[in-house]
Amino acid sequence: MRTETPDVIEKETNLSLNIDHANIIMVSNLVKKFGELVAVDDISFEVKRGETFAFLGPNGAGKSTTIKMLTTLLHPTSGKIILNGHDPVHDKDGVRKSLGIVFQDPSLDEDLTVLENMQFHAVCYNVRKDIRAKRIEELLKFVELWDRREDMVKTFSGGMKRRLEIARGLLHHPTILFLDEPTLGLDPQTRNHMWSYVKEINKKENMTVFFTTHYMEEADRVADRIAIIDHGKIIATGTSNELKSRTNSETLEDAFLNLTGHKIREEEASSLDRLRRMGQLWRGRRR
Ligand code: ADP
Ligand code: MG
Repeated sequence: MRTETPDVIEKETNLSLNIDHANIIMVSNLVKKFGELVAVDDISFEVKRGETFAFLGPNGAGKSTTIKMLTTLLHPTSGKIILNGHDPVHDKDGVRKSLGIVFQDPSLDEDLTVLENMQFHAVCYNVRKDIRAKRIEELLKFVELWDRREDMVKTFSGGMKRRLEIARGLLHHPTILFLDEPTLGLDPQTRNHMWSYVKEINKKENMTVFFTTHYMEEADRVADRIAIIDHGKIIATGTSNELKSRTNSETLEDAFLNLTGHKIREEEASSLDRLRRMGQLWRGRRR
């Protein structure tokens, strides 16, 4: 017999309305303004459960801002997000339980060892104690950092830190993994390696993957579907083949050019500059 008050029942009904079994992420008319600047300009899209979905766009397109809104770190100016049945604005905890995040900016504690970083994260995310050690070992072996587990993170190269962040993001087996430019600055071999692991978990555990990139080839090769984003707007969404055939293009690069009127490469240089500046800032801050 149900004993809930009408209040609770109503809440449940609302919640169940939010659950869409096909679409794990639903975004409608999402806007983010920073003062006068419209960083995300009325975007709508869906991501299917188990899908690998890419946001492809140049530097400054609004990719990170969107990911931050989806993962509860930024408040939307307007619009609606439903993520695994939860609203990130009103139910931060519900959303946070569902996701793993790998950010564009480094977020490791550099004064801790590899193992300490992993253990700390496992505790934060309530990874069960009996499986914690095994999973940490498995993940660190995969990203080839097991032999370095007692080393402090500050001694690591950029690529090693990225690998550790990825291992850490996967620790609690999230329902959705968010990756913001995860392969920026990694060598091709490490990139491939990272993607084969992410795809393996994606298949094995039906984990949804949402990633951003400005690497055409990466979106083409890795994503089931791609949203092309430019100046805060989604210009087109589809599989790589759909985007190509819609624009009569041989390559995704040509499709991008057709849809946006410019190449993505022109802006890669400025993105690298930005990365360098960020690196300088970061190092300065740690001194
Ligand atoms: P991307 O990740 O695609 O490179 P971002 O989402 O980081 O783009 O940025 C989109 C736009 O919003 C850029 O013009 C950027 O300068 C601006 N922006 C991002 N974050 C802030 C902020 N906290 N305050 C002001 N402007 C911001
Ligand atoms: Mg970004």
